[in-house]
Amino acid sequence: MHLYIHIPFCHRVCPYCAFFKHTPGATDMRAFIESLIREAVLRLPSGGYAPETIFIGGGTPSMLSPIYFRRLMEGLRDRAGLDLSRLKEFSIEANPATFNLSKAQLWREMGVTRVSMGVQSFDADLLKLLGREHSPDEAAASVAILREAGIPQVNLDLMFSLPGQTIEQWRDSLARAIELKLDHISAYNLSYEEDTEFYRTYGANANNEEEDVAMFCLADEMLSSAGYRHYEISNYAKEGCVSHHNIAYWTGQDYYGLGPGAFGTIDGIRYENVGDTRAYSLALAGDLKQGGKPMEEAILPAGSQEDLRGDTQARRTELLGLSLRMDTGLPADLIREQDAGFIAALCEEGLAWREAQSGAVCLTLRGRLLVDEIATQLM
Ligand code: SF4
Repeated sequence: MHLYIHIPFCHRVCPYCAFFKHTPGATDMRAFIESLIREAVLRLPSGGYAPETIFIGGGTPSMLSPIYFRRLMEGLRDRAGLDLSRLKEFSIEANPATFNLSKAQLWREMGVTRVSMGVQSFDADLLKLLGREHSPDEAAASVAILREAGIPQVNLDLMFSLPGQTIEQWRDSLARAIELKLDHISAYNLSYEEDTEFYRTYGANANNEEEDVAMFCLADEMLSSAGYRHYEISNYAKEGCVSHHNIAYWTGQDYYGLGPGAFGTIDGIRYENVGDTRAYSLALAGDLKQGGKPMEEAILPAGSQEDLRGDTQARRTELLGLSLRMDTGLPADLIREQDAGFIAALCEEGLAWREAQSGAVCLTLRGRLLVDEIATQLM
């Protein structure tokens, strides 16, 4: 079992970002934290809940003040029965320069084992273009703070295919990240999503396929040589440092999601909370019933629940797309007899190989470049 908590606040909105987030404005932070705890009381199993992983994402959760972070964790423990005794991993997302040593020490004290930092680039001009508030040196200093606070694992997010980014700039960012001896590096290909400023400025087809491929292959080459395992198409980890929470998503495991705009899937039912922080807090500020309706309905707008139990084809399609992105590959039980010829052809062309013991189909680096096309063929 896994738990995700969404903190939707950012100091300012980056022009490429399509996540559910906003500036705090006049948000009553105390009431917001209370809402999260109340949702946890409502959703988590009564009698105690001991997840294997927790991920606090956003937004920028590192913006939460120490008082509110402590209040949240203590409320989840004392009122919602959150039990950390089985925890393998507890991650929080952070932006450089939004925390200091004492805040990082508090995270560690409250059980955090992994901090994932959105750095995106070590090039000052690109950081400006991305609307980021930190400098390259502040990013490096933030890693040092996390180490000093005793955070066991640090991840850093980088992005390529940024507008005007050269391969040399990408090489420099990768080299700086490697120098920092991080436990995990995520290297994302920027996509220009609708409803973002970048989409409006550069359009949907701003990516240059040739450059994307060159940058993807450069990341694979540099990070693999530096001892990172390329275990998912955008993720690299040192030995023993994969993200268990993300693997839980990619392998279709159940998780609870708390917070405005959060998703969860429990026993084949997927839900999505209302993507409106005010409406979410107002609904949860009330009594356990709102106008005669259970509170849960007030934070789940119509149509925001999907029953996946009977739809084995939809489930297979989703797992297929996710597992092909991982180095452990497409599990044998998702492969149909009719796919045998196509898979044999992939292997012959050097795009895939078959794991001898499990029978899983794993893509080579060249195969990963065609992952979407391959997944479509297998659906
Ligand atoms: S800080 Fe992160 S979540 Fe917030 S707007 Fe920027 S990219 Fe999006």
